[in-house]
Amino acid sequence: MSQNMKKICWSVTLFLILNPLISIAMLVLYLVFSSSYSTSHIGWITGFGLIFAVLTNLSITMGYHRLYAHKSFEAHPVLEAFLLFISAGAFQGSCLKWSSDHRIHHRFEDTDKDPYSINKGFWYAHMGWMMRNESVNLPIQAPDLQKNKLVKHQHDYYIFWAIGVGYLLPLLVGYALGNAFLGLVIAGGLRIFFTQQSTFFVNSLSHTMGKTPYSTEKSAKDSLIVAFLTHGEGYHNFHHKFQFDYRNGIRWYHWDPTKWSIQLAALTGLARKLKTVHFSEILKARLQVEMEKFSHSKFYEERIVPLHEKIIQSQARFEQLKLEYKTAGQEKVDMMRAEVKLAKIEFKANMKMWKVLVKSASAV
Ligand SMILES: [Zn+2]
Ligand SMILES: [Zn+2]
Repeated sequence: MSQNMKKICWSVTLFLILNPLISIAMLVLYLVFSSSYSTSHIGWITGFGLIFAVLTNLSITMGYHRLYAHKSFEAHPVLEAFLLFISAGAFQGSCLKWSSDHRIHHRFEDTDKDPYSINKGFWYAHMGWMMRNESVNLPIQAPDLQKNKLVKHQHDYYIFWAIGVGYLLPLLVGYALGNAFLGLVIAGGLRIFFTQQSTFFVNSLSHTMGKTPYSTEKSAKDSLIVAFLTHGEGYHNFHHKFQFDYRNGIRWYHWDPTKWSIQLAALTGLARKLKTVHFSEILKARLQVEMEKFSHSKFYEERIVPLHEKIIQSQARFEQLKLEYKTAGQEKVDMMRAEVKLAKIEFKANMKMWKVLVKSASAV
């Protein structure tokens, strides 16, 4: 066997290739040659497959990624058990291994130590890395997660949970809906394929396509299209800059179903201690990136640097006054309210000036 063949992790490679191929072939053959199904079977089972795909995907983004890899919130044991149970059916490895690899990815982004470095190519970051023994066998480095009994259990019995949730559960639901075979193929094999691809896009597309509003040092990018494909993980530039924030899309309208699910869980008492980065830190990072773009502009020293200082100061003053207002006595409240409003207006006016200035500098 050649050296290259020895480097291949055959179990993962064969699964990644054969699962979609066999699922599609079996589905086509069954639909063409069998007469024991109806259109209502296909409709119901496809509906279940879609819901199950969303749930599996969310359990990876909300559970593996934001809860365990980054500890961006705390979950009630009931939610933990649910997320670990469903996510096993995504066939992306155990939570312990996945989270450990992901932490290494953040720590060594774009270097040779990054398990899915985009510098080794789009295909490598997307799927190729999982087909190599050296990446698959990376030692686990997550002592905090190894102490978590639920995570440890899922890791120790992973293959049983993966087959049980990934294939047997869809087969049983399919049986209950009138066709076990379609349940296995559509909500099992094909759903696993689509869920896997959604996650893989985070490692490939999110390091290739999009904007870099918060940091230009590394390859991670923000993209709405990728966010749609990955349940909100496409705001990857923000995420790599502020990895402990439970949000990836920070504005309320940013497409981030994972963020909304965590907020919903918090409303029902299933999640708590949601971590967020302070607005002032996000603002500083954004302004810094915009400033860098115009470091050679004729406006830089004379206009951009001074206005940048003014924005930072007016925002800090607004925050300080807000704090003082909250603790002010009754006699000072009216006066403070006016001051807070004025500080807000000043900050917003500075931001408007910044936008105009950046636009003018871009046009030169
Ligand atoms: Zn990344
Ligand atoms: Zn991450």
